[in-house]
Amino acid sequence: MEWTVIGKMQETPGVVTIRFKPSKKVSFRPGQYFIFYDMVDYLEDCRAYSASSSPSHDYVDITVKLVQNPHFSKHLQNLPVGYAIEVRGPHGSFCFDDSAKDVVLIGAGSGIAPLRSILQYTAEKESGANVTLIYSAKTKEQVIFLKELQEISDAGKVKLFITLTQEQGEFTGRIDSSLINKAVPDKADKMFFICGPPLMAQQTQKILRELGASEGQIKSEEF
Ligand SMILES: Cc1cc2nc3c(=O)[nH]c(=O)nc-3n(C[C@H](O)[C@H](O)[C@H](O)COP(=O)(O)OP(=O)(O)OC[C@H]3O[C@@H](n4cnc5c(N)ncnc54)[C@H](O)[C@@H]3O)c2cc1C
Repeated sequence: MEWTVIGKMQETPGVVTIRFKPSKKVSFRPGQYFIFYDMVDYLEDCRAYSASSSPSHDYVDITVKLVQNPHFSKHLQNLPVGYAIEVRGPHGSFCFDDSAKDVVLIGAGSGIAPLRSILQYTAEKESGANVTLIYSAKTKEQVIFLKELQEISDAGKVKLFITLTQEQGEFTGRIDSSLINKAVPDKADKMFFICGPPLMAQQTQKILRELGASEGQIKSEEF
């Protein structure tokens, strides 16, 4: 299916949200990803990107971070408004289930993308889900969606724990067992969604298991 770029927002240095209008309605679960196909430097290529907006909209956002020596990420960030690109999906089982009542989202860096889709969805649905977000970024300037997260928090729809790894903040340092215990004292009946770089995702899963969460309570996505 073709998706057309209808807007772009610079979120933080190196991170851009691209808003697309699909040629026809796409159904997906919050947290799922799509595969984007295009010619880059005269060769057909593709990469996966999670939807960062709620499925309720008639547009789909993706939030793209420039990696070191970027290839497809740079290509996507440079797409002009009006450009149409081939997209397939949705894919993935990293997605919110409407029956979940206590949800803990744990993310680092651009891993916030699918978590924001879940958060927008639970906030607008008045689903009654209790949502906690534990999010780590290097500096305050690099906290993606900071204003939006604070607004959702002020509306009482998420408990927010933002930790900075390279600056002093309300919380400082990587996501560890002490921060998780503070944010989520009782792990029973919670559904945990982890998204971030492979090492962060694996270490967080290990911590959750040590704190008593079962395999069935944990969903994880690495990128
Ligand atoms: C399910 C899923 C969802 C994702 N969602 C998102 C999202 O929402 N937002 C987002 O920003 N990203 C997301 N990603 C990551 C995304 O798919 C791309 O991998 C990312 O944008 C980098 O693509 P690139 O083409 O710019 O870099 P690539 O060319 O793929 O390179 C990635 C890194 O590897 C290094 N590298 C490449 N080739 C070599 C080599 N031969 N030797 C050594 N190092 C090398 C590069 O220097 C670079 O740092 C997701 C990935 C998955 C699997």
